[in-house]
Amino acid sequence: MSDQYSFEDQGDVVALRTAWQQVMSRARSAYGEVSIKRFLGSLEPVQFEGGVTRFRASSVFVAEWVREKYGRDLDCWMSEALGSPVRIEIEAEIRDTPRVGAATATASIRKEVATPETPRFQRDLRYRFDNFIGGSNNQLALAGAKNVASEPGRRFNPLFIYGPSGLGKTHLLHAIANEVLDRDPRFPVLYINAQSFLEQFVFALQHGRVDAFRRSHRNVGMWLLDDIQLIMGKDKTQEEVFHTFNWLYQNAKQIVLCSDRPPRELMSFSDRLRTRLESGLVADIAPPDTETRIAILRMKAQERQVEFADGVDEYLATHLAGSVRRLEGALITAQAEAMVQENVITQSMAERAVQAVRGTVGGTPRVDQILELVSDFFEVSVDELKGPSRRAHIAQARHIAIFLIKQITNGSWKQIGVQMGHRDHTTVLHGFRKIHTQMDKDRDLNDTINKLMSRANTL
Ligand code: ADP
Ligand code: MG
Repeated sequence: MSDQYSFEDQGDVVALRTAWQQVMSRARSAYGEVSIKRFLGSLEPVQFEGGVTRFRASSVFVAEWVREKYGRDLDCWMSEALGSPVRIEIEAEIRDTPRVGAATATASIRKEVATPETPRFQRDLRYRFDNFIGGSNNQLALAGAKNVASEPGRRFNPLFIYGPSGLGKTHLLHAIANEVLDRDPRFPVLYINAQSFLEQFVFALQHGRVDAFRRSHRNVGMWLLDDIQLIMGKDKTQEEVFHTFNWLYQNAKQIVLCSDRPPRELMSFSDRLRTRLESGLVADIAPPDTETRIAILRMKAQERQVEFADGVDEYLATHLAGSVRRLEGALITAQAEAMVQENVITQSMAERAVQAVRGTVGGTPRVDQILELVSDFFEVSVDELKGPSRRAHIAQARHIAIFLIKQITNGSWKQIGVQMGHRDHTTVLHGFRKIHTQMDKDRDLNDTINKLMSRANTL
C-alpha cells in the first residue's frame, strides 16, 4: 500500500477530515453536546474507499449505538460534505488486532471523491437466517434465498419471491445480504425498495444524473429489489428496472426480487419485463400454519426477552392467522403490559393484544378502508358498492373494489363475497376476471387501478 501513497491521497485525507468536522458541527446543533462527547466525538475516521468512509469506535456498543441512532443522518451529511454519495461504516476496535495508525490509514486512502456513485445501503442486522423460521409455507423461498446467499449469481438467478404482506419477504432479503456481508464485508450488495428506486431515478432524471444513478445500480455483485409491485404503472421506472436487470444478468450478478404477487399478475408490466422476472426461480410464501406461527412467536419472545404463561403462545397463534407482522404486533402490545409484571404475558394480556391488533390489521388496509377509497374516487356510496344496483358506473366501481380487495387482502372468494354485501363467490370471481381482462386492453383503467392501489398502500 505504501508505494501507492501519493500527494493526492493526502488531499483525500484532508477532505475526509474536513468533511467530518463539518458533519460534527451539524451533529452538534442537531443532537447537542452530550451526544458528541459520548459517541460521535470518540469516532476516528480511518479510511475512505469505494464510496465508503470507515470509522473506528471505541467499543461495540458505541459502534452499534451510533449506527442505529445517527447512521442515516451521518450518511447524508457526509455525502453532502464530500460532494458525492458515501456510506459510513463503523467498526468497533478489536483488541487483539493492532490499531490502524494514522499513517497506515492515510496510505490506504485512495482518491475516491470523483469515482462513480456507490449505492448506500444500511444493513439491518435484525433479519438473519438463524432467526427465520422455516415451514412448509416458505420452504422453496427459504431454500432459494439460502442458496443465493451461499452462491451468488450461480444457480437461481433471478430469484423472485412473492406473497402477501407481513410474511417475511423483506426479512429474507436482509438475511441474504447479511450472510453475504458476514462472509465478505466488502461484497457489493445493494438492497433497495422499489419505491426508493423510483424516487432516486426521478431525482437523477431531474438533476441530469442518470449515468451516475445507473452506475450505482450496476456496480454491484448482488441486487436485492424489494416490493417491485410498487412501480406498477410507472413505465419509465419499469424500463429502467428492465435495463438494470439485463445488465446485471448478463454480467452474472445475483438478482433477487420480492413482490406481493407473482410476475404474471404484475399488471402494467411489459411482457418482456415479466418474462425476465419469471426466468429463474419463482417461489411463493404463504401464511404459516399454526405450528409455524407458534415457533415464530416463541423465537420472537425469546429475542425480546419476554415469556408466556402456560398456553398463551398457542392462544395468540390460533387467534391471529395471516400476517406474521400482526402476530409480532400482538406480542409487542402484550409485552408492553407484561413489562410491569415480571415480563410474563398472561392470558388476559394476550386477549387484549389480539383485540387491539384486530382493530388495526397491521400493514394491510381493511376492507372498509378500501371500499371508502373506491367510493370517494368514483363518487358512489359504500352502500351502492355493496348493494344490488346494476347501473353501469356502479357495477364498474364495484368490480374494481372487488379487484382491489382481492389483490390487497388476498382473501378467499367466499370471504370477499360476504364483505361485498353477501354476494355469491362466483359473482365476485366474475367481477375480478372482468377487470383483469379489461386492464390488458384499457390503459385508462390500468392507470386508475394503479393509482388506487398505490393510495391503498398508504392507508
Ligand atoms: P414482508 O416483507 O413479507 O411484508 P417482513 O419481512 O417485513 O414481511 O416480515 C414481517 C415481520 O414478520 C418481520 O418482523 C419478520 O421478522 C417476521 N417474520 C415473517 N416471517 C417470519 C418467519 N418465518 N420467521 C421469523 N420471523 C418472520
Ligand atoms: Mg416487505
